[in-house]
Amino acid sequence: MYINCSDKELLMLNKIAAAAEKMQVPSYLIGGFVRDKILGRKTKDMDVVCVGDGIELAAAVAALFSPEPEVHFFKNFGTAQIKIDDLEIEFVGARKESYSRNSRKPEVEKGTIEDDQNRRDFTINAMAISLNKDDFGALVDPFNGLNDLDAKIIQTPLEPGITFSDDPLRMMRAIRFAAQLNFVIEAKTFAAIAAHADRIKIVSGERIADELNKILLSPKPSIGFDLLYKSGLLKLIFPQMVALAGAEYVDGFGHKDNFYHTLQVVDNISRNTNDLWLRWAAVLHDIAKPATKKFEEGHGWTFHGHEALGGKWVPKIFAQLKLPQNEKMRFVKKLVELHLRPISLTKENITDSAIRRLLFDAGEDFDALMTLCEADITSKNKQKVQRYLNNFEIVRQRCAEVEENDNLRNWQPPITGEIIMQTFNLPPSRSVGDIKLAVREAILDGIIPNDYNAAYDFMLQKAKELGIYAVNS
Ligand code: ATP
Repeated sequence: MYINCSDKELLMLNKIAAAAEKMQVPSYLIGGFVRDKILGRKTKDMDVVCVGDGIELAAAVAALFSPEPEVHFFKNFGTAQIKIDDLEIEFVGARKESYSRNSRKPEVEKGTIEDDQNRRDFTINAMAISLNKDDFGALVDPFNGLNDLDAKIIQTPLEPGITFSDDPLRMMRAIRFAAQLNFVIEAKTFAAIAAHADRIKIVSGERIADELNKILLSPKPSIGFDLLYKSGLLKLIFPQMVALAGAEYVDGFGHKDNFYHTLQVVDNISRNTNDLWLRWAAVLHDIAKPATKKFEEGHGWTFHGHEALGGKWVPKIFAQLKLPQNEKMRFVKKLVELHLRPISLTKENITDSAIRRLLFDAGEDFDALMTLCEADITSKNKQKVQRYLNNFEIVRQRCAEVEENDNLRNWQPPITGEIIMQTFNLPPSRSVGDIKLAVREAILDGIIPNDYNAAYDFMLQKAKELGIYAVNS
């Protein structure tokens, strides 16, 4: 066997080989599983291609197990899937494909194993392992994918322009693999991506989002985003991010290139978290800088309010990128809005009340916010970086102290609108909101302690100021 398989995987491959031999259909393990085994990466599903009917082969393999696993099949696609424990195997008949101009969905006809390898996207994804009796375990590698794995190169098996124009999703996949594996896209292949970038418009937004998320979850996402930018794809799928690029100079004052700054922040945060949404917050934290940029005479460049405007944009950007409109989006929006707040707390003489406000506003996302702020330090000056990190450590400590006393994370003010309405026999109204806000502010400002009795008394007092009295007083 050319690749190293576990006993369980080997048992599976032997059964597939036995069923295929009985049916007289040549069969091969192909694609990502082979690639990842050779690279020593963790593998996911096995893909098996046979020169015959994939669904029939799946059924024959399933019959060799007891209890017999269910065969899930898709007649239209000629594919079938079985699952044994945590091992998923997908079966398909070898095919030849031809594409039309307007669709990613090809005309499909039966083909040989060579035809099937020709339709694969990259040389490293076209390698197969024979499951046939005379050469069981041998590598079938017509495009020298093994060399490319060694040299860390991504290239298409056939003419790249045709490969990408046929199915433009492959352009995103090329960049995604470059990011995940830290490979280089071969020059002609990359030039073809740049030349056919506008074909991305026939790919569904959901597919693009899927690849973007995989790029963002790779160890160093800047590799992928930079390739998206340089190929012209990013401008088509996420123009707001491209607007961050470049630095302008007036009277010798320049500002940093916010695109590369953002990429650095994303790489920084990716060393500390695998949370996709926290990584998205890093991508979007400065997204409204171009829209808020101003040059102030004698002072330099400012981006006032970019955090509020950026937060406001998050729902729209998530919709545009087919990302969810749920609590994940609200988390990203909140982090973008709050990302400057901890910096303002690194100054001297910060009051407990300012600290309390941040704890209250960030709530359970406080740690995520601090992780974002720490990643946002991108100075090349190591001493400066250390100084900023130390400042944030002080903010964390102050917050921990205030938190211990006041318990403000996940905090709900003790006086609710219900209580106010009942006490004063009020209908839902502006006065109820005003009183509730006044009580909350008083607690956050440390005017009264965070307990029910103090808050109740304060409520009575505030109401009195507004000429409102409790019903039984
Ligand atoms: P991963 O599981 O990390 O996404 P993979 O290579 O297994 O990687 P899949 O999408 O599962 O990716 O595809 C399995 C195989 O099918 C690929 O290795 C490749 O040979 C082929 N393939 C997938 N998508 C395409 C495509 N759009 N064009 C051509 N071949 C493709």
